[in-house]
Amino acid sequence: MNCTDANRMIIPFLKDQLSIHDTWLFLKHIRGCDACRDELDLESIILSASDPDMTDAGSFDFSHHLDELILKKQQRIRTCMITDLLDVFLLLVIFTVLLIGIF
Ligand SMILES: [Zn+2]
Repeated sequence: MNCTDANRMIIPFLKDQLSIHDTWLFLKHIRGCDACRDELDLESIILSASDPDMTDAGSFDFSHHLDELILKKQQRIRTCMITDLLDVFLLLVIFTVLLIGIF
């Protein structure tokens, strides 16, 4: 993924509109690119500032909010990867049982 692709994904990322795969690619790019991370920080502040729910507290910590959002997405990616691994393991078990049952 290049910076142009990453910049196109910032708003969909903040609005939770990316697939798990795209979220993973986006976060991978953001970790290694300060320019896109800065752009993400800026867009996050603009988006949060226009959301009345987020500005009620008065001294809302935008940076902390973004860090929490990124952490939440990373946890969701991990959960999906574990679920996929369990699916593969289950298929292997079923396949093995069927093979043993046949012979
Ligand atoms: Zn970039």
